[in-house]
Amino acid sequence: MLRSLSTLCAPLALVACLAVPASATPLDIVVNFNGGLTASQQSIFATAETFWETQLVGYQVGISLSTVTIDAEGIAIDGSGGTLGQAGPRSLTSQGGFVLARTGQMQFDTADLTLLESSGRLLGTILHEMAHVLGFGTLWNLNGLYTDGTGQYTGGEALAAWVTEFNEFGATSVPVELGGGSGTRDGHWNENDGGGGSTGFVDAFGRDMRDELMTGWISGSTFVSQTTLGAFRDLGFLAPATALPEPALGALWAILAFAFARRKPLGAVSVGGRRRAIQ
Ligand SMILES: [Zn+2]
Repeated sequence: MLRSLSTLCAPLALVACLAVPASATPLDIVVNFNGGLTASQQSIFATAETFWETQLVGYQVGISLSTVTIDAEGIAIDGSGGTLGQAGPRSLTSQGGFVLARTGQMQFDTADLTLLESSGRLLGTILHEMAHVLGFGTLWNLNGLYTDGTGQYTGGEALAAWVTEFNEFGATSVPVELGGGSGTRDGHWNENDGGGGSTGFVDAFGRDMRDELMTGWISGSTFVSQTTLGAFRDLGFLAPATALPEPALGALWAILAFAFARRKPLGAVSVGGRRRAIQ
């Protein structure tokens, strides 16, 4: 879920990473468009899809899943501003010791899509929400990486990256957002509530965590950290430490800041025989 700043909250030190087996099945993100999105907007989804397929090259050993199917649509949500969109997994599978998204949904408010696109913010918005569909901030609990309310992400891959990337030697967890609304807290890396000011966490390239793609608010130029890629390794993906800046994003973000939130798996989902009611 995305909300505007007014209504809600919103590196590259190489770390040891998983080798990519030559036989790894490539990740294939398939986006089905269910209306409400123009051709140009759909093309931006394609760019986001390619970005994540490049960063998350497949799944780890013991996982046969290769395709994640996402239904995307533009719908009327709440008029201009407010909630911009919402996304999350819809059906899950348990494989190789991980709980993984098989399908997901991304919905964007038609009242906001034109401005998001014209201001250059739609790509970052889609990248962010697509990450939630793939499990970032939505499947942490089910994978034993995070407990709501603690603010402490303890997954080993992201933590190892965090320590190196942001010089946080001795850290035992990665700080998670506890501010903002229910769709924001417990599902993003931490930054100052509202997205303003420096977090004090700066990588070797001088990039403040405030500007990382998967924080609760976004402003300024955006980058994808090694820590975020580590979180995807914690979620069962093969994600070599080769994160690139998001494509085609830059200063346009600085004009307005939008808050990001995420939706946990929609409805009740069945995971490995357990049934869990989720918001
Ligand atoms: Zn989010």
